[in-house]
Amino acid sequence: MAPPCREELNLMSRKELDLFIFVDALGWKQASARNFLVDLLPRRQPCETVFGYSSTCDPTILTGVMPDEHGHFSCFVKATDGASPFRKLGALSFLPQRLVGYHRVRHYASRALAKVLGYSGYFQLYGVPFGALPYLDYTEKLDIYEAGGILGGQEAIFRHWERSGKAWTRSDWRAGDDANIAAIRSELEKGDVELAYLFTAKPDALMHRHGTCGAEVDAGFGKLERDIRDLHHLAVKRYATVRFHVFSDHGMSDTIEVSDMMPRWQRELRGKYGRDYVAVWDSTMARFWFNDETCRSEAMDWLRAQAEGRIVSEEELRRWRCWFDDARYGEVFYLLPPGSLFAPSHMCQGYVAGMHGYEPEHEDCDACWLTNAESRMPTRLDGIFRVMLEACGEPSGRVVTATRLENALS
Ligand SMILES: [Zn+2]
Repeated sequence: MAPPCREELNLMSRKELDLFIFVDALGWKQASARNFLVDLLPRRQPCETVFGYSSTCDPTILTGVMPDEHGHFSCFVKATDGASPFRKLGALSFLPQRLVGYHRVRHYASRALAKVLGYSGYFQLYGVPFGALPYLDYTEKLDIYEAGGILGGQEAIFRHWERSGKAWTRSDWRAGDDANIAAIRSELEKGDVELAYLFTAKPDALMHRHGTCGAEVDAGFGKLERDIRDLHHLAVKRYATVRFHVFSDHGMSDTIEVSDMMPRWQRELRGKYGRDYVAVWDSTMARFWFNDETCRSEAMDWLRAQAEGRIVSEEELRRWRCWFDDARYGEVFYLLPPGSLFAPSHMCQGYVAGMHGYEPEHEDCDACWLTNAESRMPTRLDGIFRVMLEACGEPSGRVVTATRLENALS
């Protein structure tokens, strides 16, 4: 038999590639309505999200366990008495909310504060009033992509990839999509990495601003499709086998209803923030803790009388795996239906055209899983981890789970 020629040798040395592409807010509805990369990634299905926002979903994807195990839910929580890292910021509560709620002011203030507090995680003050901050704490203090970043102590997928001995790479979530795509492209060019995680966030920002349809959103999805096709084109030249997996954390609903419940609450309830109760108004849900029983019973009556949403039951929180015995994320949760949002809220001052963070079973909320590989098809976000684990050669039955959930708040 003749020895292999140079071309054959070159082919034999090529590796296999698994590229996992995270597309923030590419819901199943958007992926199927747009036929997003349907020819390239023909195996596709909805993937149920978890209750909450990216701060809940992303740790679930990275660890393969649900919120009641990894411990991440919303960003802001009630601080234990006197232990808020923001206790000195109350002195700034005289500043007008319109100024401190201004996006750029908040952005730079958040960056400066994260530096002072030594936070490496995704940190944003959003629109939380300075007067409320001394009663609050922040959960994602550490980078969840790095070792030790998960509150419950689980290892993110990248530690498993590291141990597998295969060459791997991942995006920097702080960088923009174009920079992250360029970085992955240069890695694929070399043909060395076998495992890669590409992080993209533009569709989320576009759909918050414009809703799920429209010229700007079409252009954004069109560009992303072209970028992923380019990566695929390059990968098939450099690798023997190319497996692309596109997935998301949640879907997106077009805003059809805006609730002014937060200012109404402040006008109509007699309780005093900080003394009688603490509340966090996320975009689509409000969470409450009570120090005073009269305030609690008045508040419960008031909440039940409001038409725009509903109180979430313990049974639902348990079913969604977001129940915490110590009520760290709230004693009472009030949730809006898909398409509604609080404006103002602690997250933003005004209207946005698209939002997520509703009951996870609703079809608007479904994330997606699109692939060209014969790998398992995850039906819920935590299943994505298992595909990433098997890609590095570690069987999914051998997941290292944390011993117990620790309260890593200050
Ligand atoms: Zn979002």
